[in-house]
Amino acid sequence: MENKRNMSFDVRAVELHSPYAWDYNWIMMTMDFMVKAEMNTLILHRNDYVDLIIYPGRYFGYDGEASDTIFDTYSQIFRKLYKYTPTRRSGPYQRRAFLKRVLVEAKRRSIDVYIQNKELFFPDIILEFYPELVQNGHICASHPFWQEFLQIKYRDFFREFPEISGIITAPATGESRVSIKSNRCQCSRCQSTKKEEWFDHILRAMYQPIHAAGKKLVVRDFVFDPEAHKEIAGVMAQLPEDVIISLKNTPHDYYPTFPNNSRIGQVGQHPQWVEFDAMGQYFGWGIAIADLTEDYRQRMEYAKAHGVEGIIIRTDWESLDGHTAFGTPNRINLYAGSMLAADLTIPDEQIYMHFLETEGWFPENRKGNERKEAMMWFRRIMGKTWEAVSHMLFIQGCVISDSSLMPVSYEHGFWLAEEKNSIKDWDISKRDVLLPEKKQLEVNLAEKELAVKQIAALKQAGSNPPEGLCKVKTTWLQERLHLFELYGGVYKTAVNCLLLSQYLTETKEDRETGYYDEKQRQWQSEMKALQKWEKTLRTLGEETDYTPHIIYTLLDPDRVSCLYHKLLEKAEQGGGK
Ligand SMILES: [Zn+2]
Repeated sequence: MENKRNMSFDVRAVELHSPYAWDYNWIMMTMDFMVKAEMNTLILHRNDYVDLIIYPGRYFGYDGEASDTIFDTYSQIFRKLYKYTPTRRSGPYQRRAFLKRVLVEAKRRSIDVYIQNKELFFPDIILEFYPELVQNGHICASHPFWQEFLQIKYRDFFREFPEISGIITAPATGESRVSIKSNRCQCSRCQSTKKEEWFDHILRAMYQPIHAAGKKLVVRDFVFDPEAHKEIAGVMAQLPEDVIISLKNTPHDYYPTFPNNSRIGQVGQHPQWVEFDAMGQYFGWGIAIADLTEDYRQRMEYAKAHGVEGIIIRTDWESLDGHTAFGTPNRINLYAGSMLAADLTIPDEQIYMHFLETEGWFPENRKGNERKEAMMWFRRIMGKTWEAVSHMLFIQGCVISDSSLMPVSYEHGFWLAEEKNSIKDWDISKRDVLLPEKKQLEVNLAEKELAVKQIAALKQAGSNPPEGLCKVKTTWLQERLHLFELYGGVYKTAVNCLLLSQYLTETKEDRETGYYDEKQRQWQSEMKALQKWEKTLRTLGEETDYTPHIIYTLLDPDRVSCLYHKLLEKAEQGGGK
């Protein structure tokens, strides 16, 4: 028993990040899944969640007692609400009732609930009440009002929702409504405020009312570059020791080709949680199937060895409404993530067997050996999907995709790979991967060739299912493998066009060796293939009705057409021989 405890994480969380966080039926489905999967924490992540659910009363002329509910506040301020924010008048108390129901159901299932957001966020009306917050058209990030606002906001929130276990927040990204990171205010106070100081003020203003309510503050160590890491790392180290630090499993974002996040284990005495993505924002949305069982195991072992107490599995993504890991073969990641978080020693076979049993893949009366054989078949396919995706959507680990979508131009592609999502900042051995040189180019083109071969092999393996599985399930998997192959084919062509364009316009190597001409011909043939893909995808859109609908977002012929024309323009501008 003790041994098992040593190999499990105390906090095992599921995160909803899309509008599903406001969908009652969806939350009930998720919590039922969690109970079966022994997950104990639900995270509702929307940047404006808290702001949509309380007024706060003080800014409408009411600052009542600790025992008041939202209705007491409302009874005092309804006229002012109606005058200033008519659409925000009834929203907060309706949403309060929604969340109260969620919390009753969570308690029945022994599930803790956290709200996750990015600070600073606030309702627009605040700017009308306090015009001094805007200086020359820019919201002033360093105005002392914000600290007071945060204290009131979280005081009111926890008065209303003592059932909530805590707040998870990220202050150091450009995705907040106001942040010193993206601050454009030119006032002298902003100019002289250090970023570190601002983070410290914001986090301490939040900590005070959250701590006073007996709740947890979880701060995400979530930044986009090593410089920002340094700015916030010092501030975090100084926070009270009961502040939990939450870190992505990889640095910058959910890129499974990146090394472990080196901040794990480096946060002083603070408890740590580590975050994982199951849906696949950067690894194909489940349309390119990516079973991360092996990756999760290694990274959770690393986390365990570095003192981590909590694991978060994200199921969906704020920028892709209506899509979720629950709706694709990446559902396997929800099983692997939860089962490994509960027991790191669990063998893969048990994870796959549990998945097939729970998801109804076995017809009744199947014997043990038939089930085992069927499980091994399923495992052989799923277990190799991530490797194929790593070669398809990445270039030797570099992220040449826009959250799994293909780049729309040459500049866009290399901006994604070398600047926005650069792996070089974290893994110096990747420095030369995208140099326009024969040696690198051949390795990169061969990698794409390998990707389509690996996907084709998976599709082939999927076409011969064993007797021991339900036909309706294996047919579904075959269809998913077909779509995977389609996506892989388009993606390979797009990346080849980009790589060849780069070599032809930018290489400093000798252009008279014959190799250059050969690559020119290859570029022409890949560009023709890209044009053909555009037509194929247009037909796909017209003649099929696959779900989820985001298949057509990933395989958008207009996006392919844009890339094709931009690459053609670039070639015409010259830079060639
Ligand atoms: Zn300012």
